[in-house]
Amino acid sequence: VSSTSRDAQVQAALDAVDAQFEETVALLQEFVRIPSVIGDEGDAQVWATKRMQELGLETKEVLIPDEELMKHPTAVEGPWRSENRPNIIGRWKGQGDGKSLILNAHVDVVSEEPRSQWSYDPYGAVIEGDRMYGRGTMDMKGGWLAIYAALRALKTVGYAPVGDLIFHSVVEEEGGGTHGTLATLLSGETGDAMIIPEPLWSHLVIGHPGILYFRIEVDGHSVHAALGHHGVSALFEIMPIIEALRALDQERARDLHLERFERLPGADGQSVHLNIGSLQAGDWPSTVPGQAVLEGRVSYLPFEKTEDVMNRILQTIADASQSEWLQAHPPRITWPGWRGEPWLQDPHHPFVRHAQEAIGAERGELPELAADTAGLDARFAGEFGIPCVVFGPEGENIHGIDEWVSLSSVRVVARSLVRLIDSWSQS
Ligand SMILES: [Zn+2]
Repeated sequence: VSSTSRDAQVQAALDAVDAQFEETVALLQEFVRIPSVIGDEGDAQVWATKRMQELGLETKEVLIPDEELMKHPTAVEGPWRSENRPNIIGRWKGQGDGKSLILNAHVDVVSEEPRSQWSYDPYGAVIEGDRMYGRGTMDMKGGWLAIYAALRALKTVGYAPVGDLIFHSVVEEEGGGTHGTLATLLSGETGDAMIIPEPLWSHLVIGHPGILYFRIEVDGHSVHAALGHHGVSALFEIMPIIEALRALDQERARDLHLERFERLPGADGQSVHLNIGSLQAGDWPSTVPGQAVLEGRVSYLPFEKTEDVMNRILQTIADASQSEWLQAHPPRITWPGWRGEPWLQDPHHPFVRHAQEAIGAERGELPELAADTAGLDARFAGEFGIPCVVFGPEGENIHGIDEWVSLSSVRVVARSLVRLIDSWSQS
């Protein structure tokens, strides 16, 4: 195929994205109406498989048994198991030896609670103007449909990719991706590059911090409140630790910066965060709390060592445990859940430039590069040596009340993907 007829075909595919967009929106509504809260992605993946098969993709389920998966160093233990929630791979075989491209999107969403605060049915997919409201519209069923729309448009015009196009429809991203993207890549479903259309619209994202979850357990001595002075409240004992962690967060936020981590809207000059996400202490009004359990998350920059960050937290807790009681009953600290290294894509890799130009052709200017302050499945691509970028639709209220996605931005993402698929596979 000559380059002029190829250019004409790409142009025809871009037109097809537009012509088919109403159907894309209708499919996005269907998809949003299948609740797929993390752990319960089975029905969404059945739907995803049907869509891929309609496109003529070769589909395959990927599911790795837990015993095997958990041996991997970056796998994290969670409440989820692999049964009935496979990852779905849809492959469009290339006609030549061009570079392959993975298009990765997760189907899991976070819970819609507190549901009573929504002004729209969280699974109603109501459209108002350019906005579609609902849980997962923005994060990230809109991005999933952008991939679908790009592949469908290319199919419609008889496009023949020179490298394999591999659609990864994955589970569990919201819980760290162990049964999702990690399992998928571990199973051998790799490629020469990956793009994830997560809803990061203002920039092309090529990095995120390391993320570590921690749990602190403090014992007290529970007695009846009527004899409370004989007890030791675990709640009161853990309070100096909470204050010390809060001070550590402020210190880290003040001292640790990487400009690239502060470019996204809302970063406001803060690269790293230490969050105390939950505290449970006691269980009865007239019992002195016998136990307190605190869980939190700390993010850290690529120039910090995971081990140093862990040691700093341990030291902070030790320094704050000066009471006689805590000296005799030291807090127990564990690291359950997320334990992801920082991800930093080399900005000079040619794939980054291809992605910038594909997006730039749609938006009139090259998108700037940035790093996210939240974790992404992209780090697994980094782990497997696959160049990866993240760019997707615009919206608001991610993980919140009245989440919505901009439909016109889904179309722009689909068109950018058409351009990227063509330029990358021929490079
Ligand atoms: Zn997401």
